[in-house]
Amino acid sequence: MNKEKRREILTRLRDNNPNPQTELNYSTPFELLIAVILSAQATDVGVNKATDKLYPAANTPEAIAALGLDGLKHYIKTIGLYNSKAANVIKTCQMLVELHNSQVPENREALEALPGVGRKTANVVLNTAFGWPTIAVDTHIFRVSNRTKLAMGKNVDQVEEKLLKVIPAEFKVDVHHWLILHGRYTCIARKPRCGSCIIEDLCEFKEKTSD
Ligand code: SF4
Repeated sequence: MNKEKRREILTRLRDNNPNPQTELNYSTPFELLIAVILSAQATDVGVNKATDKLYPAANTPEAIAALGLDGLKHYIKTIGLYNSKAANVIKTCQMLVELHNSQVPENREALEALPGVGRKTANVVLNTAFGWPTIAVDTHIFRVSNRTKLAMGKNVDQVEEKLLKVIPAEFKVDVHHWLILHGRYTCIARKPRCGSCIIEDLCEFKEKTSD
């Protein structure tokens, strides 16, 4: 894909949604961090249902650590993989208290050292809580980037590297949200809705649908 086309895609996505937001509910960097840990292989809607009850009861590292494993599981048992996620969240809360003065560190290495936090989660937190121009490549971004040919790669790391290289600076902070939302609602996995896609004439996918 050439530069002009890429810029036009990004301009249209921006015009369509100038201030994109995550669909996870949160009000502090800590709440966002925990929500992202819980969201692995789960839907944002499912995570929000759980955190809407959890956060009024406990929304600091101390308070969640004090719930203990069983206390936390009570709130998140509707989310897939909740046993291992509960263990990771409790350990993460303990580390935040002991090592980071109960704050979420604005630092990639420190974030990735927390249990349950990999590169993708660190990218989301750095981007969404702290405004870094990081791009967290999830299944939606991977699919949209490859289908459109915006940034092609065989795995999420390759796509992230390519996106970081080709996305102009002015779009970098928000591109992660635009591509996730586009993948979630329009360029969906099973059957993309090319007929109602705002970048249909620019996308280089060969098997477009008329839906
Ligand atoms: S035209 Fe189709 S394949 Fe291309 S981005 Fe839009 S929905 Fe996805």
